[in-house]
Amino acid sequence: MNLDPIIYEHTIYRSFYSHTQNVELALPTLTEDIDCHVCVIGGGLTGIATALQLAKMNYHVVLLEAESSLANQASGVNGGQVLNSYECGMEYIATKYGNQLAMQLWQLSLDAVNLIKHNIKTYNLDCDWQNGCGIVAYKAHHMQDIHNEYDLMKNKYAYDGLELYDVQQTASIVGSKIYHGCLYDCNAGHLHPLNYALGLAKIVTNHPHAHIYVKSRVTAINSNHGTHTIMVNHKHRVTAQFIVLACNYNNGRLIPQLANKVTKFETYMFATEPLNAVAVELIKNRMALFDSRNIMNYYRLSADNCLLFGGGDTFGKSNLDKIKTALYLDMLKIFPQLNGVKVQNFWSGADSLTLNLVPDVGKVGSAIYYAQGYSGQGVALSNLVGLIIANAIHGNSEQLDLFASLRPIGIGGNPLLNAVLIKMGIAYFRLKDYFY
Ligand SMILES: Cc1cc2nc3c(=O)[nH]c(=O)nc-3n(C[C@H](O)[C@H](O)[C@H](O)COP(=O)(O)OP(=O)(O)OC[C@H]3O[C@@H](n4cnc5c(N)ncnc54)[C@H](O)[C@@H]3O)c2cc1C
Repeated sequence: MNLDPIIYEHTIYRSFYSHTQNVELALPTLTEDIDCHVCVIGGGLTGIATALQLAKMNYHVVLLEAESSLANQASGVNGGQVLNSYECGMEYIATKYGNQLAMQLWQLSLDAVNLIKHNIKTYNLDCDWQNGCGIVAYKAHHMQDIHNEYDLMKNKYAYDGLELYDVQQTASIVGSKIYHGCLYDCNAGHLHPLNYALGLAKIVTNHPHAHIYVKSRVTAINSNHGTHTIMVNHKHRVTAQFIVLACNYNNGRLIPQLANKVTKFETYMFATEPLNAVAVELIKNRMALFDSRNIMNYYRLSADNCLLFGGGDTFGKSNLDKIKTALYLDMLKIFPQLNGVKVQNFWSGADSLTLNLVPDVGKVGSAIYYAQGYSGQGVALSNLVGLIIANAIHGNSEQLDLFASLRPIGIGGNPLLNAVLIKMGIAYFRLKDYFY
């Protein structure tokens, strides 16, 4: 189907978030050799959250970001959904690694969401926090899985934040006829990720022992007798006792043994023009939503009533027009009443995943910490990871060890093999979504 060209006529090809950014940070570039306790590499949410926790503990911390602005990658362009649990699901962890670890990691995932709420309140971050997320049943029999999840979380994990909505209740909240029910989580929520990340970074810059540099790409790491020398822009040296690698799918460029543990995937989003009166009927409780398929759509309303819409099956499509059409048609399938609504922003972003979708957080050698492979669910998790890596550097690695005992299955560093495996994985999930 061809879309009316007017829909994309005035589209801005940059993220809705950079378009509505409310924090400006004037940050320097590194132009000399310096020493510090901890060098954090990568200025997304993982790096910013780690730098903040270390600064609060009075470490002399230096954060190096390759690009000209912070949170310019996944952390500043994502769906903004702040979710409990992990992409692999709690029962995967329970089955593979035991109930005790699952219980501990479940509690940490709740802590991760609470940490975001705590930061917003403590630092008065202007980032449009909104309570509530829901998973909606795309097919009638998906409701059984949703029921099972509700029972499991309530009975085994003693979690009382969930509400189960049947088809009528769902239709009374979401202005769509396609869903068969919804599992609503009142403790999860959504926010403007870029304003959150930059607001947090601003707090970091207020600490006298913390320094953030942009346009300061790390080009090599050399370790010798407990001291690390970090080369920046092939020119300057940062000497540090500890390193935190927070470069997402680029960690492996600096420490090659991390490369074969994750793979990069790309996803697309758009923001409609403000919907105003229509928005009230679209998602009455203003929760963020995603559906029950493996290759699903996720969406939410922004504070100014734009529909931020992403996901779907855009994999393997190299033609941008086809991707734009596919995503818009996904929206119309859910909300046919939005036919003709214009697209204000269109953008893409990338994250890293592991084959079994468990996060990959740990330590290489004695003093290099890293995090990657959040597998599309890193907004809350990156905040928690910042705290637990800072605690580990401070001498308490109890929580880090819990993550380190997960065994993420790597995909392989060979780019060709990577591409083949990703294609096979997508084909598998397409079939699964079709038949189940
Ligand atoms: C489109 C999209 C939608 C998503 N939606 C959600 C969602 O709704 N909810 C959710 O929980 N998660 C979501 N995610 C996932 C989430 O955004 C990520 O898991 C998380 O932001 C990863 O944060 P990070 O700081 O580890 O990595 P990034 O944000 O990717 O940051 C890495 C940083 O490292 C820098 N860097 C790289 N190499 C170097 C170097 N050599 N030297 C210095 N700096 C370097 C990069 O420039 C970048 O700034 C989504 C992701 C995408 C792409």
